[in-house]
Amino acid sequence: MESSLKEARSCFSQLPLGAIKPLGWLKNQLDLQAAGLSGFLSEVFPDVGPTSWWLGGAGESWERGPYYIDGLLPLAVLTENPRLFDYAKGFLQWSLESQDKSGFFGPPKNPDWWPRMVMLKVLTLYSDIDQSGKVEEFLINYFKYQLNNIESRPLYRWARARGFENLVSLFWLYDKTHTPWLLELGDKIREQTLDWSGFFLELPYKKNTRNYLDFTKVDWDFMDKDDPEARTFLTTFLYTHVVNVAMALKAPWYFYRLTKSPQDLNATLNGLEVIMKYHGTANYLFTGDEHLAGLNPSQGTELCAVVELMYSLEQLLCQTGISKFGDYLEKIAYNALPAAIAPDFWSHQYDQQTNQISATIGKRDWTNNGPDANIFGLEPNYGCCTANFHQGWPKFVANIWLKAEDGIVLSLYAPSTVSFKAPSGENVNIALDTDYPFNDKLKLKFSLNQPVWFKLYFRRLSGASWVLKLNGEKVTAVVHENGFLSLVRTWRPKDELEIEWMIKPSLKCWANDSLSVERGSLVFALPLGEKWVKVRGISPSADYELYPKSSWQWGILEDTDFEVEYGELTLQPFNSDCPPVILKASGAKVTNWQEENLSAGKIPKPQPLKEDSKELKLIPYGAAKLRITQFPIILSKDTKHS
Ligand SMILES: [Zn+2]
Repeated sequence: MESSLKEARSCFSQLPLGAIKPLGWLKNQLDLQAAGLSGFLSEVFPDVGPTSWWLGGAGESWERGPYYIDGLLPLAVLTENPRLFDYAKGFLQWSLESQDKSGFFGPPKNPDWWPRMVMLKVLTLYSDIDQSGKVEEFLINYFKYQLNNIESRPLYRWARARGFENLVSLFWLYDKTHTPWLLELGDKIREQTLDWSGFFLELPYKKNTRNYLDFTKVDWDFMDKDDPEARTFLTTFLYTHVVNVAMALKAPWYFYRLTKSPQDLNATLNGLEVIMKYHGTANYLFTGDEHLAGLNPSQGTELCAVVELMYSLEQLLCQTGISKFGDYLEKIAYNALPAAIAPDFWSHQYDQQTNQISATIGKRDWTNNGPDANIFGLEPNYGCCTANFHQGWPKFVANIWLKAEDGIVLSLYAPSTVSFKAPSGENVNIALDTDYPFNDKLKLKFSLNQPVWFKLYFRRLSGASWVLKLNGEKVTAVVHENGFLSLVRTWRPKDELEIEWMIKPSLKCWANDSLSVERGSLVFALPLGEKWVKVRGISPSADYELYPKSSWQWGILEDTDFEVEYGELTLQPFNSDCPPVILKASGAKVTNWQEENLSAGKIPKPQPLKEDSKELKLIPYGAAKLRITQFPIILSKDTKHS
């Protein structure tokens, strides 16, 4: 499997929609999502309602319809919800039927290439359900249209930043058909798209975007002008937009598939580290509110960037077969995703802060977002995330298991079942029974009609050792270069494989002498309590401000011990009322940490412990809607001061 990188082809492949089903706490997340905003959005948010142009109405004709269906279709399949499935199908049927003789499709009054890139992705998912070949034929016709028109009508605005998203469906089709002219179109799209490989290798924007861009000049009439000043301004605007960056992490890989250039491969493998070095914080996001905002944990990150980052990592994990993308993906899914969504799934934040001491309407130090960007609501700041966040969990589920040529890959750890065909053609079912990431034991139960040979790959958790037991007996696995482990054998009916990860809580260093606490895929935070105050709208999809119930100026001891305490795993584990796991650590009050712009100000320098330390009860970051995650350092009494 290591050779796929050299040959610039996909290492693993995704299973058809519905082959993986969520279990346990993860199934509850999807059920809550379907019972919340995702299941009823069309009733409270007209942009995705029955008047959408994507349903033949005269309403919204841009990205919001395709965004919503991109999450709703897999959610409907995974929760087996016919009402939601029929609603999603309406958009897909309309899109398929809207294609004219030239191959063009979608709302005719809005010819923007960008929203079509999203709908193409949804259609590739839909082809798992409508297997008539209609989707493939539709894509061929559209790509012919693009080939004939992309030079006279080049990618512009968002499509110029996001052209690689077009390549996702192009390569989906190419991998099935090997049609040579698709690569010719791919090259034209790449040439018209921003140079994301150069961006991730050099990162010209290492500081808060305010250093490079005067946001008072942001105006499409100016940015669309054909003069050098406007062109440079627009390019900077697009490169520093956090959602573009999150999406673009996969761009160098798709470019590499076209060019085979070492530059593109290098940017694929190292892009994450580069962006995190200059904009990363302890929730494993890079800041962008909504442009890149530097290393301060009081800056925010937009929810669209969270779900798009997950999608990028899913593509990278599957196509490169490199385990670190899975480690990173779990970090985002188990922390930043639930953090920005209310426990009842009826409201969300536009921007989340790593250190978030209140979520209220007021002036925060965003690069260019509005005063309501971090409240929990239906459409805080702007409605893109309202339409787009639904894809987070359903697509995560669809990537827990991947297909390899010689077997099956457990690429993400979460309670689930998978059905697939072994290389011999026999049907295999595996159930993964676990409460991971809240504890570290996993049990795989194999259901087979007869003994079947295949290779089982599973991701090595970085930083953890492990014990493997097959039917109660210790076994050893082969360790691969790409960070996966494997067991190969003739599996028997009722085989059981236990995997136990040995994960210790640890401190992690971040910018400006700050520390965070994590254990495996979970980041931990000090919860501040939350008083939810309704400010506008109609329940259940109303808008809420959150006020803290306790003080936030705490530091953590650099030599703290940890104690792990397990609680009950309830219907909604990402809720500060009932966290399923608590880490007890030692900290102390810091007196010189000021509030600035309704946020935690600059993190104070490391300071000695003056009085006795206090016990801090830390809970999963995703459960603590108000929190301190990056702490100032309290020096131990033994540290020598210079
Ligand atoms: Zn958004």
